[in-house]
Amino acid sequence: MESILTINNLTKKFGYLTAVKNLSFTINKGNVYGILGPNGSGKSTTLGIVLNVVNKTSGDFHWFDGNISTHDALKKVGAIIERPNFYPYMTAYDNLKLVCNIKGVDFSKIQEKLELVGLWDRKDNKFRTYSLGMKQRLAIASALLNDPEILILDEPTNGLDPQGIHQIRSLIKQIAANGTTILLASHLLDEVEKVCSHVVVLRKGEKLYSGRVDEMISSHGYLELKAENQEQL
Ligand code: ADP
Ligand code: MG
Repeated sequence: MESILTINNLTKKFGYLTAVKNLSFTINKGNVYGILGPNGSGKSTTLGIVLNVVNKTSGDFHWFDGNISTHDALKKVGAIIERPNFYPYMTAYDNLKLVCNIKGVDFSKIQEKLELVGLWDRKDNKFRTYSLGMKQRLAIASALLNDPEILILDEPTNGLDPQGIHQIRSLIKQIAANGTTILLASHLLDEVEKVCSHVVVLRKGEKLYSGRVDEMISSHGYLELKAENQEQL
């Protein structure tokens, strides 16, 4: 199987706090991976490290076959780890033109990606008039402009209404079906069950479980996980 990301014994300390502890897992091409855990369990820190925006304390990670620098590898990675942020008084289309210029992507990609996320008919609306769900879909279109190997999403449905949540989850599944590997962080078991094929469950920075989602559901300890997840909502 073709490996996209390998993490070995990764540890991150913030002063006395160990946010990520000896974490190891591998992401293989063509799957949808979830990192599941309550708030503060180290999900965003893990994503930040592999995206080179947070320095690790110890351990290792490598992208693809390991023969490529992280800097070059990240050109093949699309990521949304913050609230979508575009120029509010510019249209969605013009915002994506700017992104194309920065990434060196042909403008012809804009229509393909806006159609994929269902925003082509709203391309001439200003970003500020978009709903939160539309903003998130625009961010996904933007992240996909250069056809990355993997799309990384941090809590992609947070703050959305039920319809917005449904649209984002369907879109993630469609992107995966088109052949893009996905890694998403979520505190929602329900989200991981609906969207992901594989999962890494984190608790206080430590891995509690990793494997297939269907195997997790039939595993010993699943009911406990479900009860805990219900509690924290
Ligand atoms: P999650 O994304 O699962 O909610 P985070 O990775 O954001 O968890 O945080 C893990 C732990 O690390 C939390 O206790 C958080 O308060 C702490 N943390 C995260 N970033 C920093 C930082 N820059 N400085 C200090 N502590 C941090
Ligand atoms: Mg987080």
